[in-house]
Amino acid sequence: MGIVDKMNNLSSDGSTHDDCIFCKIVKKEIPARIIDENEYAMAFLDVNPISNGHVVVIPKKHYSNLMVCDNDEILYETMKMVRHVAKILDASKLQPWGFNYLSNQGEMAGQAVRHWHVHVIPKYMKGEGFQFSSIPSKDMEDLDDVYEILKTGKAKQAKMEEKAKK
Ligand code: AMP
Ligand code: ZN
Repeated sequence: MGIVDKMNNLSSDGSTHDDCIFCKIVKKEIPARIIDENEYAMAFLDVNPISNGHVVVIPKKHYSNLMVCDNDEILYETMKMVRHVAKILDASKLQPWGFNYLSNQGEMAGQAVRHWHVHVIPKYMKGEGFQFSSIPSKDMEDLDDVYEILKTGKAKQAKMEEKAKK
């Protein structure tokens, strides 16, 4: 289990959580403005939209996040639903100029609902809607070191041990 999972205590068993709001939408226990659905995935309007036509796309089966979704068919079908919804929005009278596709994983990264979902956020104007703003971390590693860490497990281990000594 990686640190991201540990820190956020995310479930990795793919089980359905009875208190999951998106599972309740799937089971039609609570209402939602459903744009489309099939056997695998569902798309509905976000109740707290960032822009007109902000849609949330989910797999019908409960997975806490993308990382624990071990079913390729579900991954494929969910992303197909994302594309489908984007096309519906694009062809609609809303006339967006672009889209932001967003999936948060972990509380720290802004995930409020622990059922994997992809936001489809239409963009109409610069400075409005979803804003991608990044503040670089204070302790940034050299890019080559990061590359090495990612490419070689050994380097990663050595680096972690080195850091632990400090
Ligand atoms: P995130 O912060 O990435 O987990 O996003 C969760 C999103 O789900 C938020 O944008 C919420 O507005 C949205 N949301 C929460 N509950 C509902 C609901 N019952 N119906 C539709 N959208 C919801
Ligand atoms: Zn769920």
